[in-house]
Amino acid sequence: TYVISQPCVDVKDKACVDECPVDCIYEGKRMLYIHPDECVDCGACEPVCPVEAIFYEDDVPAEHKDYYDANVTFFDDL
Ligand code: SF4
Repeated sequence: TYVISQPCVDVKDKACVDECPVDCIYEGKRMLYIHPDECVDCGACEPVCPVEAIFYEDDVPAEHKDYYDANVTFFDDL
């Protein structure tokens, strides 16, 4: 799955939402989240993010690692 990380917080540009072919990017209070079971790993969202918040799960920078868990937890709580 792809993961949205810290740069999205309070930005929520949503360019990614328009690109996602399976509509698996959801809006939270302060950032957007990618549904880990619905994402088909197409990568279309990554280059259009103006703040470079989106990474493939294995490529999330160390300082944003906790955003993988935050992303999964967001959907657990729905
Ligand atoms: Fe949607 Fe593709 Fe991005 Fe996954 S990688 S969130 S399927 S645009």
